[in-house]
Amino acid sequence: MEAVKDIVIVGAGIAGLTTALGLHRLGIRSLVLESSDGLRTTGFALTTWTNAWQALDAIGIGEPLRQQHNQLFRSQTLTTSSGLSTAERQFDAPGTQRGHEIRCVQRRILLETLANELPGDTIRYSSKVVSIDGSGYLKLVHLSDGLILKAKVLIGCDGVNSAVAKWLGFKMPALVGRSAIRGSVYYEHSHGFEPKSLRYFDEGVRFGVVPCNDTSIYWFFTFSSSSQNEEMEESSAKMKQFVLGKLGKIPDNMRAVIEKTELDDIILSPLTFRPPWEILWGSISKTNVCVAGDAFHPMTPDIGQGGCAALEDGVILARCLGEALRDKQGMSSEEEYKRIEMGLQSYARERRWRAFELISTAHMVGYIQQSNGRVLNFLRNRVLATFLARLPLKIASYDCGKLRAS
Ligand SMILES: Cc1cc2nc3c(=O)[nH]c(=O)nc-3n(C[C@H](O)[C@H](O)[C@H](O)COP(=O)(O)OP(=O)(O)OC[C@H]3O[C@@H](n4cnc5c(N)ncnc54)[C@H](O)[C@@H]3O)c2cc1C
Repeated sequence: MEAVKDIVIVGAGIAGLTTALGLHRLGIRSLVLESSDGLRTTGFALTTWTNAWQALDAIGIGEPLRQQHNQLFRSQTLTTSSGLSTAERQFDAPGTQRGHEIRCVQRRILLETLANELPGDTIRYSSKVVSIDGSGYLKLVHLSDGLILKAKVLIGCDGVNSAVAKWLGFKMPALVGRSAIRGSVYYEHSHGFEPKSLRYFDEGVRFGVVPCNDTSIYWFFTFSSSSQNEEMEESSAKMKQFVLGKLGKIPDNMRAVIEKTELDDIILSPLTFRPPWEILWGSISKTNVCVAGDAFHPMTPDIGQGGCAALEDGVILARCLGEALRDKQGMSSEEEYKRIEMGLQSYARERRWRAFELISTAHMVGYIQQSNGRVLNFLRNRVLATFLARLPLKIASYDCGKLRAS
């Protein structure tokens, strides 16, 4: 058994490291337990919207990330069947969505930037949490190597299969019957694509190509899962072939992006979400335990907000805990426990409706964008195209605030 740790965070992903860095900026130490033997960068890259940049600035890493990722100025939606454009949106057009900041960030760079800002001994790798139980004002955190840690605060940032969410009473996230294949391509010299986000929707598929910077491009392809999935899981070559076979009328330079992708740089993931009503009545926090990121609100990637929301969680959770633990010198264990419980409750209150809104919107957008049927295709491509292109910007208009309340 090890000594008592004040704050134990499970998972060194976006949510865990953002929370740890937010706390560190407030002068509060934490220990992050990560099951892998290094940072996990599965997924290559992610679109980060204005709300994510507010959070990144709040924890002081916005600038170095801006320098490594190009700002995207436009998004264009097209159909794979005709190759025609159905909606176009200028992110910085005067009088409309002025002030939006959207970039496609490489996960490795994001996680390394977060980790490098933390004191050297904050992350403990190869530390898989297998169970949790209570002991007075402390939680006992059992690791797979037999070690037991005592924690005054336990924060689950352990992703979609979260052990902490399970302890809080959440069910496993539900499969939505769709999967995503993602890839990343690196160019020795400039790839020549404009800094804009290109998205194709039609006939049950959703495909996008987004430049991260001058030399790297991220792409994704989502589709209805089928028995083909199992076959593909074994082979990146089959995934690549599958995507190439489904692309329809897209320009040659877009097709070339998929063709150039190395087989090691392609992955397949089944998509899951937590039904939004579980967020409304579930326990986001209980006593001195809470969840953040995908452990709290796994959502489909249709509005590109899961990681952005994990950043928002991290800032707000650090602020709530910072408030709760302010002037704790001389406080009794009972008083400290009560203050922590109230701090986590106020985090849960601030996040519940935001998480509900994000999960519901993502699910609705995914349903419409990937639907396959004449009526829905017509509605999506002719009637709803502009609304659907505007929605992600509306959702991204959210400011998580600074780390200090005043
Ligand atoms: C196809 C796809 C596309 C996406 N696109 C976007 C996008 O464009 N924009 C966006 O914002 N989001 C996007 N997302 C969502 C985003 O990837 C996630 O929301 C984000 O990675 C969640 O971060 P997290 O830290 O909560 O969880 P994770 O990144 O899953 O990190 C959890 C960490 O906890 C560790 N862990 C798990 N269990 C344990 C344990 N028992 N003990 C110790 N450690 C443990 C894991 O090893 C991992 O490192 C996408 C997701 C998918 C599937």
